Amino acid sequence: MWDFETDADFQLQLDWAGTFVRDVVEPLDFVLGNPYDKSDERSLAMVRPLQKEVRSRGLWACHLGPELGGPGYGQVKLALLNEILGRSRWAPSVFGCQAPDSGNAEILAHYGTPEQKARYLQPLLDGEITSCYSMTEPHAGADPTLFKVRAERDGTDWVINGEKWFSSNARYASFFLVMAVTDPEVSPYEGMSMFIVPAETPGIDIVRNIGVATEPPGQVSAAGVREDHGYVRYQNVRVPADHLLGAQGQAFVIAQTRLGGGRIHHAMRTVALARHAFDLMCERAVSRRTRRGPLAAFQLTQEKVADSWIDLESFRLLVLRTAWLIDKHQDYKKVRKDIAAVKVMLPRVLHDVAQRALHLHGALGVSNEMPFMSMMVTAEALGIADGPTEVHKITLARQVLAQYTPVDTLFPSGHLPSVRERALAAFAEHVDHEAAQF
Ligand SMILES: Cc1cc2nc3c(=O)[nH]c(=O)nc-3n(C[C@H](O)[C@H](O)[C@H](O)COP(=O)(O)OP(=O)(O)OC[C@H]3O[C@@H](n4cnc5c(N)ncnc54)[C@H](O)[C@@H]3O)c2cc1C
Repeated sequence: MWDFETDADFQLQLDWAGTFVRDVVEPLDFVLGNPYDKSDERSLAMVRPLQKEVRSRGLWACHLGPELGGPGYGQVKLALLNEILGRSRWAPSVFGCQAPDSGNAEILAHYGTPEQKARYLQPLLDGEITSCYSMTEPHAGADPTLFKVRAERDGTDWVINGEKWFSSNARYASFFLVMAVTDPEVSPYEGMSMFIVPAETPGIDIVRNIGVATEPPGQVSAAGVREDHGYVRYQNVRVPADHLLGAQGQAFVIAQTRLGGGRIHHAMRTVALARHAFDLMCERAVSRRTRRGPLAAFQLTQEKVADSWIDLESFRLLVLRTAWLIDKHQDYKKVRKDIAAVKVMLPRVLHDVAQRALHLHGALGVSNEMPFMSMMVTAEALGIADGPTEVHKITLARQVLAQYTPVDTLFPSGHLPSVRERALAAFAEHVDHEAAQF
């Protein structure tokens, strides 16, 4: 069964969310600071009533099932909602589904003990605290088998030592999820474990906060706020044994659960950003005039519009189809190829649409008075965060190629004379071999 329509009830919810985000939430992006800074009382006072409104509409934490306080709409509906929320920096926090907390909540829900859920997951779901996923190390990222951060057992505790970096929102986090080597003697796939480390634990040193592109970390500008990413040193950081998340040696499995969801959610929000760039491009095309008429009259402008529409719509369809597959299989492993494809397409589409929109805006387009440069930087960052494009292409290609078997014939199966020979043999009774046309 194929259906490209949103059900009528949920469409009403989306219509409400669209108006609410446009009229009430998007303006917050220009007056409030960092959504992850939960110590900012002024922001919280303004945002709490809006979060309450979202809850009363049944749209709070839509990435979660009812057992965790979400409505459990599934990934397709989440995708449709994220197409709206992705326009605004504050919207995901107002709707309780902001990354990276959403992914961190997902693994706490999957692997956490009741005590861990009560202490770390519940306040995270309630939007009271911020979390940090601390996996990448300065010397290794795309290949996690090379990670060196070590956790050693000492009595009833684990003691963590080593360095992580690009730990997003480290400075605002109440706790860190840290991936560490617990058994260097076995394969990394069995020798690494995930720990919950409260931020107040002695020995956590944020060496510095790293910004993306040229703006300083945490900078708030008209084009948005630059997230910052912690370079974190763990020095004899001691956590009790009950702060191991999941079983010992299970870090890779946990990381895959987290990153599968995280990647598709980024893609859903990216549809919104690319659409925003596209709308601005079209508005500019019909508004800006030269002595030969509006930009929209030029074929090279029309090509930009047509290419962008095709990029955006095909990306959106791939995202929605992948979301649908996740709902169907309820298992990220079965959708790895599709998520990898979405992850590869995501930075390209955002970059290309933003770049074309930028050009049509001329000098204004490259200025910090329009969002295009920021979008292009975001595209570059999204091509690296959660694994670089190259690695996802490899995953995709390997999974696709695994479905094919080699032939041992001299010519490939599509070799036309061979195909013709087989066809003639199959229909020999009816076809005159000599008179056959091809
Ligand atoms: C905005 C942003 C936010 C992030 N947030 C977090 C976070 O919260 N927590 C966290 O732990 N990490 C985070 N990261 C880190 C991110 O996960 C890593 O940057 C990513 O995994 C790549 O690792 P690396 O930077 O060490 O690149 P490397 O592993 O050094 O790779 C560099 C380049 O080498 C090439 N390459 C690498 N491997 C292959 C291969 N197998 N085949 C072909 N080419 C290859 C690719 O071109 C790749 O881009 C974030 C990164 C960004 C940009």
